[in-house]
Amino acid sequence: MRQPELVPDARGHFGPYGGMFVPETLMSALHDLAAEYERAKHDSEFQEELAGLLRDFAGRPTPLYLAVRLTNHLAGAKIYLKREDLLHTGAHKINNALGQILLARRMGKHRIIAETGAGQHGVATATVAARFGCECVIYMGATDMERQALNVARMRFLGAKVIPVTAGQATLKEAINEAMRDWVTHVRTTHYILGSALGSHPYPMMVRDFHRVIGVEARRQILEREERLPDLLVACVGGGSNAIGLFHPFLDDLSVRMIGVEAGGEGISSGRHAARFQGGRLGVLQGTKTFLLANEDGQIELTHSVSAGLDYAAIGPEHSYLRDCGRVTYDYATDDEALAAFRLLAEIEGIIPALETAHAIAHVTKIAPKMSREEMIIVSCSGRGDKDVAQAAQRLL
Ligand SMILES: *Cc1c(COP(=O)(O)O)cnc(C)c1O
Repeated sequence: MRQPELVPDARGHFGPYGGMFVPETLMSALHDLAAEYERAKHDSEFQEELAGLLRDFAGRPTPLYLAVRLTNHLAGAKIYLKREDLLHTGAHKINNALGQILLARRMGKHRIIAETGAGQHGVATATVAARFGCECVIYMGATDMERQALNVARMRFLGAKVIPVTAGQATLKEAINEAMRDWVTHVRTTHYILGSALGSHPYPMMVRDFHRVIGVEARRQILEREERLPDLLVACVGGGSNAIGLFHPFLDDLSVRMIGVEAGGEGISSGRHAARFQGGRLGVLQGTKTFLLANEDGQIELTHSVSAGLDYAAIGPEHSYLRDCGRVTYDYATDDEALAAFRLLAEIEGIIPALETAHAIAHVTKIAPKMSREEMIIVSCSGRGDKDVAQAAQRLL
């Protein structure tokens, strides 16, 4: 194992990954954003305002909850859930949305755009735009709009304009293309609140930093409660923001192992999945160099997952780097395994997780029984499952 660097270089490289692969017209906006973010990071007024919003508006700190019945059921390691599902709007996404809306205000940009997959990032963005009185436009794939109708209605009640994107597979990748097209056209008045640790520099670093609060709290909470660090961290990985937010504050703690769980869809051999580290290759997509699902000519392949939030062809560049270093390992859970975990957590703990989160829970059900009762796992409970109930009912009830 190689000890990873904790920050990217000045142009956003995590080892050979990351960078700024964008049209010329966006370069100056990205440099301005990176510079403004550096200033904000060291501005105590900015940090205090963000901390106040995270506390009073979003509901931080979130509990670190000992899942007693799940632990007993699996008869292995002790399982703690980091309850991001209890945040306002129902997932970790609000941490990043609040940080970025404060940056947009600092830069004098009053029009906000975003892409969304499952709709959770769109809801978080529409929420902070309403809170700060900004115009808000959300791009969403038409396929995702169908499977996440509840979140579409929420965004509209929050005053956002939701624009359906019908190109290609009509999911997240196409929504990001449209958002980038909008940004190129309106860059002087508009800030793009990107929703995961993805895209061009400075987004992967900045989004990660806004989510580090997850790991910082979890580390403090477990030390208070158990007087030692956990043995294992588990999180699902779409772009990778909830995972990197939990993992990053523990990277120097070499006794703590970490596993990111990708979407295995209908199985790797079926080709219908979104597990970029299972047969993916190095490439460039939407601003960043990283592992992605593409054919030999570099054409992006179709992806599939039961959870819209994990259904994306590229993984955040820092995850590619942490995998190379051997610091974090990556596995996957299939749709069926995630659905079973969704049902298990609901029945046994009284917590209905998001289908994305259910991938992390599914992995825990495989690994916890192989660990001793003295060992401890913290799993990122990244979101709640209200948005997924109708879809899960179709498959399970
Ligand atoms: C969006 C989302 C994810 C996936 O995004 P990451 O950036 O990988 O965290 C996971 N869980 C929930 C609940 C989400 O809403």
